[in-house]
Amino acid sequence: MTDVLDLWFDPSRCLINGNWVAPAGGRHLPLHNPSTGERIGSIARGAAEDVDAAVAAAHVAWQGTWGKTTAVERGRLLLKLRELVLEKVEDLARIEAIDVGKPLKQARADAIALARYLEFYGGAADKLHGDTIPYLDGYTVYTLREPHGVTGHIVPWNYPMQIIGRSVGAALATGNACVLKPAEDACLTALAFADLAVKAGLPAGALNVVPGLGAEAGAALSAHPGVHHVSFTGSVATGAQVQTAAARNVVPVTLELGGKSPQLVFADADLDAALPFLVNAGIQNAGQTCSASSRILVHRSIQDRLVQRMAERYTALKVGPALADLDVGPLISARQQGIVSSFLDRGDDLEKVAEGSFQDAPEGGSYVRPTLFAGVSPSHTLARDEIFGPVQVVIPFDDEDEAVAIANGTDYGLVASIWSRDGARQLRLARKIRSGQIFINNYGAGGGVELPFGGIGKSGHGREKGFEALYGFTTLKTVAAYHG
Ligand code: NAD
Repeated sequence: MTDVLDLWFDPSRCLINGNWVAPAGGRHLPLHNPSTGERIGSIARGAAEDVDAAVAAAHVAWQGTWGKTTAVERGRLLLKLRELVLEKVEDLARIEAIDVGKPLKQARADAIALARYLEFYGGAADKLHGDTIPYLDGYTVYTLREPHGVTGHIVPWNYPMQIIGRSVGAALATGNACVLKPAEDACLTALAFADLAVKAGLPAGALNVVPGLGAEAGAALSAHPGVHHVSFTGSVATGAQVQTAAARNVVPVTLELGGKSPQLVFADADLDAALPFLVNAGIQNAGQTCSASSRILVHRSIQDRLVQRMAERYTALKVGPALADLDVGPLISARQQGIVSSFLDRGDDLEKVAEGSFQDAPEGGSYVRPTLFAGVSPSHTLARDEIFGPVQVVIPFDDEDEAVAIANGTDYGLVASIWSRDGARQLRLARKIRSGQIFINNYGAGGGVELPFGGIGKSGHGREKGFEALYGFTTLKTVAAYHG
């Protein structure tokens, strides 16, 4: 397989009001293949002027054709789009693998998940409704679930297809008109998705895409007074900036940020069942997953056994180009490689128990070896800070209270899991651990399409995925009618 991109759309344009247009400033950004470091093309460098045009188009759509489209028709359009995505699964997977560096099977899973989001939200579109509320004599009171209007979607590079599926899918299902700002490092599948949306028959302006830099197109979108809701997925620092910008317009924001998600392994755990989850949740997408499990908390009595078995798996991990479809691909960029390498350097004082190996990894690619550290103190930087690379630390605990204290001891709270056969402990800890999702004897790394997802603390606020997202992308209107 060669690394040549075979695109059926023009990646150097923005989609605004149903038309593929050059960015107003005529500028572009280079695209690189993280598996080789080679330049593979360029994308539009959209900026404020393009965002203005996209928001204006979205307004017209929301007030016009798209706003008048019934819920069942919106659902059918999303289901049609799903079909088109499924027809293109292999193309989408290949594009994503080359653009983002994720092994082909992981990119394929993302494309299939995108289709599944469209199925879920397409099917849900006509099942969301308000209530009638008992009130005073002579009144009929009911609530209407209405779209916010124009929604802004700022998406990171690590799971473009999945994040577009969960946020744009839910926003369109509820009748919002969307402006999508994909990440500058990974926007090809966003453009492919938009092309398929046009082909599916989505009215002009219902979905607009403006690629570009975060500080330009992203900042313009989050500060735009014509946007009624912002869905942001990315880093804590940028999320705070987006929320600040939106607050000036008093616009609600959903923030899906980072994590330092723990898996708690008790002495009575089924280790055979746990092991694949313990390791995969740390190295999937080269650890560049918000819900990566980067901390393994283990009861001291089984620490040696667990570390030895995890080490066996780490030693077998192969790292190489995305299209070679190994266990781990490159990181997204040389910059990210630098960040992760500097964390690894700060682990010099730790017990490094195992690492994976390179297999035909090209010199120019941004590779790091998956690395497992054991016996780590919860206060160590590798145990507290989000690394966003294939690095896991094993932290011992002596009892349940200490396990909970360590689990809750970071700024984050996105996902956690409990490995134990003790049912009472499972339920007790599911309450005590501060986290948006808890898995018991499994680890979903964000979980399925159906499961509400989001964080507490610095992991963010608001929920996407599942039916819950439909509430987030709508506003509730109360109508109180006096009729005597
Ligand atoms: P990032 O914050 O740098 O970028 C995310 C998006 O924000 C990109 O599209 C970028 O262009 C845009 N952006 C950058 N500066 C901006 C600004 N000033 N105003 C508006 N938009 C701006 O994050 P990243 O490095 O791309 O992604 C990694 C981070 O995202 C990690 O911390 C990870 O945990 C988090 N993440 C969270 C989830 C989740 O669902 N909770 C999912 C994926 C990634």
